[in-house]
Amino acid sequence: MTSTLAHLGLYGLGTMGSALALNILEKGFALHVSNRSPDRIAAFVTEAQAEGLATKAVAHDSLAAMAGAMAAPRAIILMVQAGAAVDECINALIPLLSLGDTIIDAGNADFHDTRARTTRVEAAGLAYLGMGVSGGEEGARHGPSIMAGGTPAVFDGIRPVLEAIAARFNDAPCAAHLGPDGAGHFVKTVHNGIEYADMQMIAEIYGIMRRGMGMEPADIGKVFEAWDKGALKSYLVEITGIILQAQDKVTGLPVVDVIMDSAGQKGTGRWTVIEALALGQSASVIEAGVGARGWSSEKTARTAGETILATPRKALTLTEAQLEGALLTARIAAYAQGFRLMAAASANYRWALDNARVAEIWRAGCIIRSALLDDISAAFRGEMPEGQLIFAPAFVARLQANLPALRQVVAAAIAGGYPVPALAGAVGWLDTMAQARGTADLIQAQRDFFGRHGFERLDGAKGQHGPWAD
Ligand code: NAP
Repeated sequence: MTSTLAHLGLYGLGTMGSALALNILEKGFALHVSNRSPDRIAAFVTEAQAEGLATKAVAHDSLAAMAGAMAAPRAIILMVQAGAAVDECINALIPLLSLGDTIIDAGNADFHDTRARTTRVEAAGLAYLGMGVSGGEEGARHGPSIMAGGTPAVFDGIRPVLEAIAARFNDAPCAAHLGPDGAGHFVKTVHNGIEYADMQMIAEIYGIMRRGMGMEPADIGKVFEAWDKGALKSYLVEITGIILQAQDKVTGLPVVDVIMDSAGQKGTGRWTVIEALALGQSASVIEAGVGARGWSSEKTARTAGETILATPRKALTLTEAQLEGALLTARIAAYAQGFRLMAAASANYRWALDNARVAEIWRAGCIIRSALLDDISAAFRGEMPEGQLIFAPAFVARLQANLPALRQVVAAAIAGGYPVPALAGAVGWLDTMAQARGTADLIQAQRDFFGRHGFERLDGAKGQHGPWAD
């Protein structure tokens, strides 16, 4: 290792941190690195040397040693576990850094935390950037999508690095400054919420084909592989095709058949739903994705339920075209709910988020990258009645062509006894948004009946009560 000084430091050499560090070094930037546990530092140095990327790396045995060795102005990227670890690192760094230095949190922070940390770090005379990084380990290593929140000047200070390491779409970097303080981490959170929804919808379609139509995983994988060449083209559909055609090395069985059907979660999906509810928004498709992971972990109860409830199941007859149209329609609903939520949060927190720009930087590098996002960014730059993606002309045409397929698939799955909470959530929302006169009149009457909440009459009179008030 050389002792070349760099202005850039990265702390946290876990899965994401080491991949991001190698990416930064590969693009020719000098980088100081460190990690809490020394074994990870040694492993990183060995890996960097093996890849011929060690000449511009300087490893330190602690965060304090790293900060002390760096020339000012310093920009220190934290890629540590979200939550208390970030606060511990900030607390350690504040006394060590000085005016002009920047702390960058590149983990999956709760944007409320990022807002509070921005205030705290700025009060200490330092700059703060809350930066969402998507694309998993592969993205971090070879080009992630980067969603930054902070002041434009702070972003501009590190922009050359971020644009160099980011994924590229049509040669434009998928890295952007999206707004102040928590804006970047919020957009990353919603990205993950949409990811939960898309994964759940894909899994529901798989469940229909596997259990309802009796197809083998490899054959379903081939269908997904074909779909990845059409309107559903996306990273998640692509990897689903690969996964379903993969065999377990030990048993020779389809690999999905040897994996426990309980999925984990770390919080970003839940945060998306919590914020949606807090802002009075609907994110029903995302909520279904998060909720289904919770249900998936109730393995013992579900196993008992199969016998206790003994739900009769019928074989399904659906075409690949119906299933493809259903998934496409539900995916549009999930994106639309995510973008609505970002618009609501932007208004609430005064971020001036540019949804077209968000869609643009999601077109490559991130987990939810898909062919649809190019059309979504174009839609946000064009005519969009009520600011609703589902009312943009290009999406109206798609919904009119494919909503019948989603309806048929959901109806068949429900009649056959197969769970489709996300797909059904999409239909419920799309039908609600297509109905001028809903049923909340009755809800208002009920609220007035038991709680004297009052209601607004269609003739405009407010604070009215029904005849039951007498
Ligand atoms: P990881 O492999 O588990 O690594 C966690 C890192 O955090 C390690 O370097 C660990 O240090 C460090 N750490 C944990 N607690 C610490 C503390 N109290 N003080 C100092 N360092 C501490 O995690 P990861 O997957 O790289 O995730 C890092 C961040 O990126 C998280 O916020 C995660 O949500 C986010 N993220 C992950 C992905 C993904 O696909 N994995 C994608 C996007 C974003 P030790 O080595 O000492 O334990």
